[in-house]
Amino acid sequence: MEQKTLITSTNFNVFLAQKRLMASKCRKCGALFLPPRAICPTCWESELEWVELSGKGKLAAFTCISITPTWMAAAGYGRNNPYCSGIIQTTEGPKIACRIEGVDARDPESIKIGTLVEVDIRERTQGDKKIPYLAFKVA
Ligand SMILES: [Zn+2]
Repeated sequence: MEQKTLITSTNFNVFLAQKRLMASKCRKCGALFLPPRAICPTCWESELEWVELSGKGKLAAFTCISITPTWMAAAGYGRNNPYCSGIIQTTEGPKIACRIEGVDARDPESIKIGTLVEVDIRERTQGDKKIPYLAFKVA
C-alpha cells in the first residue's frame, strides 16, 4: 500500500507512467474510488490510501468518435479512422471512462457491452513530452 503519496490526479498520472492502475480506498468504510478521491463522499473520511487494481474489468458503455478534438485529429483520428471511448467497470467495482483499444471503431455493432477487458496504459506525445493515458483493451 502507498501511504505517503498524496491522493491527487497528478500522482494518479505518475502511477500511470509506471504502468500501474491505482485507486484510492477509504480506510474507514472500504469504498474504492477510480479516478481516486482524496475524501470519501460517504463517510467524509480524509485518510484514504492508494491501492493497485488488478486491471481487469468489463465494458459497461462505449461510443465511437469520428468528429475528434484537435489533438486526436493530430494523432490521425477522424472520419476515416474513428476511435472508441467507453466506461469500464473494474473487477473491484469502480467505473472509469477511458479509451478502448482492440475493437473496430468503424463497426460499432461489433463491440459488445460486457466484453472482458484488461488495462492497457499507453502514451501520447505532446510536443517533446510523453503523456500517459489510460486505456483498456479486449482481454
Ligand atoms: Zn468511507
